[in-house]
Amino acid sequence: GIAVLGSTNMDLVAYVARAPGRGETVTGREFRTIPGGKGANQAVAAARAGAEVVMIGAVGDDAYGVTLRAGLEHSGVRTDLLRTAQGPSGTAHIVVDDEGGNAIVVIPGANATMTTLGPGETAAIAAADLLLLQLELPLPAVVEGAQAARAQGVRTILTPSPVQLLPDELLDCVGVLVPNEHEAAALTGVGDPRAAAAVLLRHVPEVVITLGARGCLYAGRGGEPVLFPAPEVTAVDTTGAGDTFVGTLAVALGEGRPVPEALAWASSAAALCVQRPGASTSMPYRGEIDAV
Ligand code: ADP
Repeated sequence: GIAVLGSTNMDLVAYVARAPGRGETVTGREFRTIPGGKGANQAVAAARAGAEVVMIGAVGDDAYGVTLRAGLEHSGVRTDLLRTAQGPSGTAHIVVDDEGGNAIVVIPGANATMTTLGPGETAAIAAADLLLLQLELPLPAVVEGAQAARAQGVRTILTPSPVQLLPDELLDCVGVLVPNEHEAAALTGVGDPRAAAAVLLRHVPEVVITLGARGCLYAGRGGEPVLFPAPEVTAVDTTGAGDTFVGTLAVALGEGRPVPEALAWASSAAALCVQRPGASTSMPYRGEIDAV
C-alpha cells in the first residue's frame, strides 16, 4: 500500500469580480468549501487510482475536521491514523477574481501540530510499499517520516511544495523528487528544466519535473533526460493536476510498472483532472484512467 504523510486543509473559496483592497468591502458572487491540502489530495488521487492508501496527518476538532475525514474515507483512504488535534483544522482562504487570478492565506492549524511521529505512524510508513511526502507539515516530521521509510527500504516520492531549502538528511532519503518547473528552478537556481534535473540528480536518484500542458521531464542516473508530452486536452481547471499526477504515479510505481508506462498513466490521469472543475473532486478513478 501507499502511505501519505502530509497536510489536510479546507479551502474556503470566495469568487468575486475584483478582489478588495485594504479597508475595502466588496460583495462576491459565490462561496465554496473544497477539501484540499497537498497530502490529502495526493491520498485521494492514489486511492481513486486503485491503491490501498493510509493518510498520516492531523485535522482539527472542528466541523471542518469531520468533513475532511469523511471526504478522505469517501474516496477510500484509510483515516484511522489521521489525528484529531485540539483546535482548528488547516484552512486556505482563497479569493478568486474574474480574471482567474487568486490571493491565498493559508492557516496551518492542526497541520502545525504534527511536529513528531508516534510509533503507529512510523510503523505504517515502514509497512508501506511507497511513501508520499510534501512540505506542508513541519519539516522535522517530514524528515522523521522519510528516515522511517529509508530504514525499511520504502521508496519515497517528495513533492517539494511549498518550495524551500531541502536539508541533506531529507534528500538522502528521497527516491523520486517531483517538482514543477518553478520549484525546480527555485531549488537549483537554474531555469532550464534539463539543466535543473542534472543538478537535482546529484542529490536524488530520480527526478520528474512537471511542465504543465507540456508534460513532464524524467531524469534518472545513467541516462539522458526524457520528455513525456502531456495529452492535448482543453483545460478548464488545473488545480490539483500536480497532486493527481504524483498520486497516480505512486500507484503505478508501487505496482512495479516500468517508469515510462507509469509516467504515461499519470499523465493521462492528470489530463483527466484538468478537464473538470475542482481539485480533489475532479480526480479520476482507475477505470477512467485505463479507458484513456
Ligand atoms: P502543478 O499543478 O503542481 O504546478 P503542473 O502544472 O506542472 O504542476 O502540472 C502537473 C501535471 O499535470 C503535468 O505534468 C501534466 O501531466 C498535467 N497537466 C497540467 N496542465 C495540463 C494541461 N493543460 N493539459 C494536459 N495536462 C496537464
